[in-house]
Amino acid sequence: MTTDHLLSIAPRDKAEILAQALPYIRKFHGKTMVIKYGGNAMTDPALQQDFAEDVVLLKLVGMNPVVVHGGGPQIEAALGRLGKKGEFIQGMRVTDAETMEVVEWVLAGEVQQDIVGLINQAGGKAVGLTGRDGGMIRARKLKMLDNKDPSVEHDVGQVGDIVAIDPSVVKALQDDAFIPVISPIGFGENNESYNINADVVASKLAEVLRAEKLMLLTNTPGVLDKAGNLLTDLTARRIDELFADGTISGGMLPKIAGALDAAKAGVNAVHIIDGRVPHAMLLEILTEQAYGTMIRSH
Ligand code: ADP
Ligand code: MG
Repeated sequence: MTTDHLLSIAPRDKAEILAQALPYIRKFHGKTMVIKYGGNAMTDPALQQDFAEDVVLLKLVGMNPVVVHGGGPQIEAALGRLGKKGEFIQGMRVTDAETMEVVEWVLAGEVQQDIVGLINQAGGKAVGLTGRDGGMIRARKLKMLDNKDPSVEHDVGQVGDIVAIDPSVVKALQDDAFIPVISPIGFGENNESYNINADVVASKLAEVLRAEKLMLLTNTPGVLDKAGNLLTDLTARRIDELFADGTISGGMLPKIAGALDAAKAGVNAVHIIDGRVPHAMLLEILTEQAYGTMIRSH
């Protein structure tokens, strides 16, 4: 973002704006914030830099940001170079052995390291991990039943269902002032790899870390109703209705399901926010204004 337009704000007003962040900084000091970044929210370089700066700022004022990233568009581009096209069932990428290899190198090799680099450039100390590191994400093959007819089972290949998350490596890094950046790859009983939806990983991680907030940055203003209006607040009951009438589809399915699980498991604040808004995260954490969609357990 260019910041030229901020030159016209009087210093006094700038100071006032900064001072208004103080109660939030105090309230969230020492708290863990799990942030799902990516895929579709991370395609613009200026926004990527804003994101990295936000993460570093949160860390420097005493919060514990943990980043989980996706990589939908990047995986799609890599598959395209191999002449393959991604296929999705109920929001999950069908992952055959070749796709799994692509997923691993794009997520862990490219996307994760880009984010680590950006955060480090912004003055933080990021460390990239996959779910294999420290034995973090244990997974098994996802058994996917059809949303409409549960007697039908879909085979989505090496898509993983989380068995357990061991957050000790994340905690160790946090305590040492590092910022963990996690690729959503799990390992199975026979050391096989699993491709897990990043929203699902972020949600489960928020739960096991007892995070204060879970923020899912995406490429829409939040959850929209059929007419395209933003739904600012969603309860479990309303979510059931939106699933049933088809308002929520595609990648929004695992996102909302994960978000609701996290809210039910006691994560205080679960938000789906527009990652295309510059400094979306700072606005969410450090101002009183509500952005996007908040998910409530009841
Ligand atoms: P991300 O990379 O952020 O996970 P996804 O494509 O997986 O992005 O999920 C976000 C997408 O879900 C939106 O871009 C939109 O196309 C789709 N979507 C489906 N239903 C809704 C809804 N009710 N409101 C907003 N987005 C929705
Ligand atoms: Mg997604």
